[in-house]
Parts: sequence; structure tokens; C-alpha cells
Amino acid sequence: MADEIFHPEEQVPESGVYQVQHYRHRLYHEVTMLRGTTFPVCSECGHNVRFRLVRTAPPIECDRNFATAKSQAAGSGALGSGATSNTP
Ligand SMILES: [Zn+2]
Repeated sequence: MADEIFHPEEQVPESGVYQVQHYRHRLYHEVTMLRGTTFPVCSECGHNVRFRLVRTAPPIECDRNFATAKSQAAGSGALGSGATSNTP
């Protein structure tokens, strides 16, 4: 599963860190990709570049402990970014 290889212009299945495998012009390196975007074509090796998922890393707004904080901030303007600890 973790060894699945992706090609340029395919859709990114999971947000996370991907290893980029170029064709003969550069060593492997890692990038972050967001789910729903597409893998890019390399300016050097074109469609011969490959991407391999190293580990998933969901965006923070998808995390349950931060999703509400974002929606609150969007709804109530820019008030009190520091002191928003409402104790019940
Ligand atoms: Zn390349």
C-alpha cells in the first residue's frame, strides 16, 4: 500500500509527504502534496517522474481539535485570537 507509485497528472489520493523519483537528473527528494490536487510534470524529465507516498499528513483543518477553532474564527471575526478558552 505504501509502495504505490503515482504518475504526473494523476490525482493525489491522500495529503501527505511524497518521495519524488526523477528520471536520471536528480536524486530522490520529498515534497508535500494536498489531496485533490494533481501530481505535476517535472520541468526536466517530464512525465517520467514518479511519486511515492511516504506518509499521510492530513491538513490541520481536517483535525478534530482544530476544525472547530477555524470555523469559530471565520464566524466571529478577528477577535481574541489568544484568549478564547471558554470554560463551561
Ligand atoms: Zn525530473
